[in-house]
Amino acid sequence: MLSNLTVVDHPLVQTKLTIMRQKDTKPPEFRRLLREISMLLAYEVTRDTKLTTARIETPLTAMDAPVLADKDPCIISILRAGNGILDGMLDLMPTARVGHIGLYRDPATLTAVEYYFKVPQDISERHVIIVDPMLATGNSSVAAVGRILEVNPLSIKYVCLVAAPEGVKAMLEHYPAVPVFAAALDSHLNDHSYIVPGLGDAGDRLYGTK
Ligand code: URA
Repeated sequence: MLSNLTVVDHPLVQTKLTIMRQKDTKPPEFRRLLREISMLLAYEVTRDTKLTTARIETPLTAMDAPVLADKDPCIISILRAGNGILDGMLDLMPTARVGHIGLYRDPATLTAVEYYFKVPQDISERHVIIVDPMLATGNSSVAAVGRILEVNPLSIKYVCLVAAPEGVKAMLEHYPAVPVFAAALDSHLNDHSYIVPGLGDAGDRLYGTK
């Protein structure tokens, strides 16, 4: 088993993913389901968030009640499909900050090239959750983690919907301290680096571009 990987096997996640995988599921339903699954993934990913207490007043009395110990986390979306997960996570964590990273694959070298990078100025005081639905070869996830480490966040977690063993292994090899969360670990990559059985191109299915 891959020690960096947590598969969120909750039945709600699994049954929603089954509908997303089906080729006849259209973009509006696909987007809605990804949004719902992302809330459930966010619940798991934030389970170890540190708390402290603050003095509050209920209508009956004063009490010391749990509040976040650190600043709100920063969710960083790998464009463009990451935005599908970002939307659901923001539903659950509306005060989270947001960053975006854009990467494309250089056709000659096949390496990930950055075309956009914008994160909050105080990122070094925040925990980061990187989101992208499909962890396939691991090229873009490894590049994204490397770039985000340069801005020195408190910690990094990586969240995807479907992972391939190849991508999880690449993450483990390069960044063993970065936990990876997925709704499913699929079988393998095909010759075009698509995840099998997978769900096709997540960006196209989210936004109806094909
Ligand atoms: N990106 C996708 O959108 N789907 C895959 O199967 C692999 C990478």
